[in-house]
Amino acid sequence: MSKQPLNPALVAVIEDELPIRRFVRAALLAAGYRVREAATARDAQRLLEQEPPDVAVLDLGLPDRDGLELIREVRLWSAVPIVVLSARDQEDDKIEALDAGADDYLTKPFGVGELLARLRVALRHRTPGAGGTTVEYRLGNVQIDLTTRRILRDGQLVKLTRHEFALLEALLRHAGRVITHRSLLREVWGPHCQQETHYLRVYIANLRKKLEPEPARPQWILTEQGVGYRMVLPE
Ligand code: CA
Repeated sequence: MSKQPLNPALVAVIEDELPIRRFVRAALLAAGYRVREAATARDAQRLLEQEPPDVAVLDLGLPDRDGLELIREVRLWSAVPIVVLSARDQEDDKIEALDAGADDYLTKPFGVGELLARLRVALRHRTPGAGGTTVEYRLGNVQIDLTTRRILRDGQLVKLTRHEFALLEALLRHAGRVITHRSLLREVWGPHCQQETHYLRVYIANLRKKLEPEPARPQWILTEQGVGYRMVLPE
């Protein structure tokens, strides 16, 4: 699976703690990526401008500036995928980072396998809408065609309501990445519904009932406790 690409992706690692930076660098180099490093927000900004990476790994707790601020600023001029390293397991930080424009987050301590998996997803989403947009999905015995809006489960037509379908579509579009309650509500129900998280509980439960083999133990539509949801597609 891990064929060495001819032009390996460039990863910017923005992290002030040397042991973590070393650990991440070693893991990335071993996986065949190219790596550039920055230990401060200031260096990070210069790095991102001068040698735009394919993906950035960003620690939120930088010595000179808040990582969230950096994300907001970078988002003004760059669409580079950003995977946040969050030291605390604090939901508010994760939500804020994702809403500021981060693509995903990892809570420290994290494993190499997890880091590489998140990077692969982030790289896959590097150029949204730039051709090759997936419209057909297969989740076990379920086939989903977003163009015709047809969903088959064991060959039987599955009926979704308009909002269930829109929710599924949003989850699929962000497949592999976490999407916050707020973004989902905004995308599916509109900006005036951003606080109505109970909609999501109801509609996610419906989707799981219709699509998951064991709705109580979902394998595709996962809950990210207190933050949002993550759709996981079979490899
Ligand atoms: Ca730090």
